[in-house]
Amino acid sequence: MHYVSTRDASLRYTAAQAIEQGLSREGGLFLPETLPALPDLEALTKMTYQQRAVTIMKLFLDEFSEDELRTFTEKAYGPEKFDCREVAPVVSLHEKTHVLELWHGPTCAFKDMALQMLPYLLTASMQKNGEDKTVCILVATSGDTGKAALEGFRDVDRTKILVFYPKDGVSDIQQLQMVTQEGQNVGVCAVVGNFDDAQTGVKRIFSDGTFRQELAERGYVLSSANSINWGRVLPQIVYYISAYCDLVAAGRLTLGDPLNVCVPTGNFGNILAGFYAKQMGLPSGKLICASNANNVLTDFTRTGVYDRNRPFYNTTSPSMDILISSNLERLLYLLTGSDEEVRGYMQSLNETGRYQVSEKVLNQIQENFVAGFCDDTRTLNTIEKTFRNGGYLMDTHTAVAYTVLQDYRCATADDTPALVVSTASPFKFCDSVLTSLGVTDQEKGTAILGQLTRETGKAAPKPLASLAGKPVRFTEVTEKENMAQVVSELLR
Ligand SMILES: *Cc1c(COP(=O)(O)O)cnc(C)c1O
Repeated sequence: MHYVSTRDASLRYTAAQAIEQGLSREGGLFLPETLPALPDLEALTKMTYQQRAVTIMKLFLDEFSEDELRTFTEKAYGPEKFDCREVAPVVSLHEKTHVLELWHGPTCAFKDMALQMLPYLLTASMQKNGEDKTVCILVATSGDTGKAALEGFRDVDRTKILVFYPKDGVSDIQQLQMVTQEGQNVGVCAVVGNFDDAQTGVKRIFSDGTFRQELAERGYVLSSANSINWGRVLPQIVYYISAYCDLVAAGRLTLGDPLNVCVPTGNFGNILAGFYAKQMGLPSGKLICASNANNVLTDFTRTGVYDRNRPFYNTTSPSMDILISSNLERLLYLLTGSDEEVRGYMQSLNETGRYQVSEKVLNQIQENFVAGFCDDTRTLNTIEKTFRNGGYLMDTHTAVAYTVLQDYRCATADDTPALVVSTASPFKFCDSVLTSLGVTDQEKGTAILGQLTRETGKAAPKPLASLAGKPVRFTEVTEKENMAQVVSELLR
């Protein structure tokens, strides 16, 4: 199977090349040229999560052996990393409403599902490509990705990782998670400014040819761990298929029954993986794209106009505070099959902040997707209501999705069984969750974890509970102009 770029389909790559490069040289994203068919679902229902992952990922990775993938999945999703045997368990709220919990990994957010796997895929890809340099992963993070990438790459041979986060732009818990990071090959640095400053700084380093050359001479090649890399999308396809199998095995679905899926969406990576699963033949119904007040995707799905010229809101679901959803570009290519058309849309986005897809593309989008959004007030209401009626505690991102699912059901009377994708542990966003429960006098630092436990009777996940008392290793703060120097020092 070959991989092509969304902006130039004449360039063909192996999976290992696509994963090592991350982003195509002309700015496009890599995706597989053809879609493999779903393997026998009945056989998959009898497998463990790790076995399902091998079976599905193998279809996309010709030059990786089954043995290799078995080793990767056992390490990435093993008991030292995930706190439950099912890895991505499905919990039923009602007969027709199920929650797919993607936060049982080492950093308690769904980014672990892909970022535990990516280091294995990336280092093996480099070996297959004959690359002999050490890879240096640079990450700009608004919170969840940085920690998940640090955990994924810590002490992985021939890799270094450096994470930049906005000095006053992440939660206390998120900052503590990063500055206490263990590992010999890791670095963490605060940037004076906001997330955009950190991200712009990283992009500037990537595009600085002289600096890259200098690093190459010292034996380093730069790479990125953000969700434009195919190696992050692929592991996410697995859990949609796995969840369906679990519901069949539990007798909640009969093989072939449709299942709607509702995904809290930011960069469109997670829901895109759900679309891939559907295209491969999973009996998915509607893919419901849920947003917070930054509802650019809701408008797009309803009108076909993508317009980022709008106010930016900081919400209680910060991992979805985003106005440019990069992975949408892959969807546009999948639907149009035309690099030329995608190039046109992306050029327009670049120049005017806006594009409008053709009637045909819009119709295809609406056949597969519906979209909705909700504000912070309704998000917090949903957390409280769901907890008080039935005892299920969800985080703010999950609550956005659950609210949007309920809106959809009311508006359409579509009562197809539905899967709500849960992307973070409620303990990662203690302050908002406590606020939703009416607790205004909140404790500071890690003490807030215990406070949420006392309020709800739920135990904090181990990786968060064990932050208390961990030594702080990283205190460096840099101006955004000096980020390259920080990289240079880490690699000394
Ligand atoms: C990253 C993230 C999302 C958004 O996922 P995308 O793949 O960017 O759409 C949602 N919730 C949480 C908790 C996240 O960390």
